[in-house]
Amino acid sequence: MDQIKDGWFTESCALWPGQAMSLQVEEVLYQKKSKFQDVMVFKSKTYGNVLVLDGVIQCTERDEFAYQEMIASLPLCSHPCPKKVLVIGGGDGGVLREVVKHPLVESVVLCEIDEDVINASKKYLPEMAKGFFSPKLTLHIGDGFEFMKENQDAFDIIITDSSDPVGPAESLFKESYYKLMKAALRSGGILCSQGECQWLHLELIKEMQTFCKTLFPVVDYAYTTIPTYPSGQIGFMLCSKNPETNFREPVKALSKEEMESMNLKYYNPEIHKASFVLPEFARKVLSEA
Ligand code: SAM
Repeated sequence: MDQIKDGWFTESCALWPGQAMSLQVEEVLYQKKSKFQDVMVFKSKTYGNVLVLDGVIQCTERDEFAYQEMIASLPLCSHPCPKKVLVIGGGDGGVLREVVKHPLVESVVLCEIDEDVINASKKYLPEMAKGFFSPKLTLHIGDGFEFMKENQDAFDIIITDSSDPVGPAESLFKESYYKLMKAALRSGGILCSQGECQWLHLELIKEMQTFCKTLFPVVDYAYTTIPTYPSGQIGFMLCSKNPETNFREPVKALSKEEMESMNLKYYNPEIHKASFVLPEFARKVLSEA
């Protein structure tokens, strides 16, 4: 609560020193110290309801689609037949909502560590939590790192929609986790993970891309723009077991009709391609990885 002062929530964090994002608050709707983290939802003046974990904004009703659509559709449209999907984290349900829209997806397992996030989302972020009611879903409450150890040769796509690498999500940014994901993917499988921000974490991204390249024949990095993540941008690390994968060209471009029926507001085949084009400062560093 000490992050709310004079009617403004301010997100400051050691991961982005010297800068802070503020949103005007109308009302705090939910607050709980769960087994894993502080969970809060507040109603903002201009961004709808906002989910905050350990003081860090996870999603807002106004701009969440820019992240959820991209982290789901970049890998799904890069795989010729994405039948079985695993989502790690994603307790707000937004990524799940996007994954189950894809017609080729037959089943989705979601493994979230904190049931309180899911319950808060169902109550206060109903548009995002829709996916929890899909018949394609099997829900597992537990640690994504541990869950990965129990699965081999099981999924076509693994999406890691995690919070930042402090607290419960720390292990999800490690090489050992990527090794486990590789084993959990079927032949030709693809993974896509929340990949932090070029403006803030280029060295971490480079380090991750370096170990990914020792594990997978194809590795690439894309990003989306989103006002309420630090510096207005967040990236995605994509890896494929199939040496033929070219992430920069969707294997099947969605038609206008498909996009309309999926109610897409950010993703389209053109932005899919464009999202891999990096500004020169980032391209230079990551091309050395
Ligand atoms: N898109 C958001 C972002 O980038 O800030 C992340 C949204 S989602 C709410 C992140 C979820 O990951 C949280 O609900 C958190 O509880 C979950 N999480 C963190 N560590 C985890 C772990 N080790 N296993 C499974 N879920 C985890």
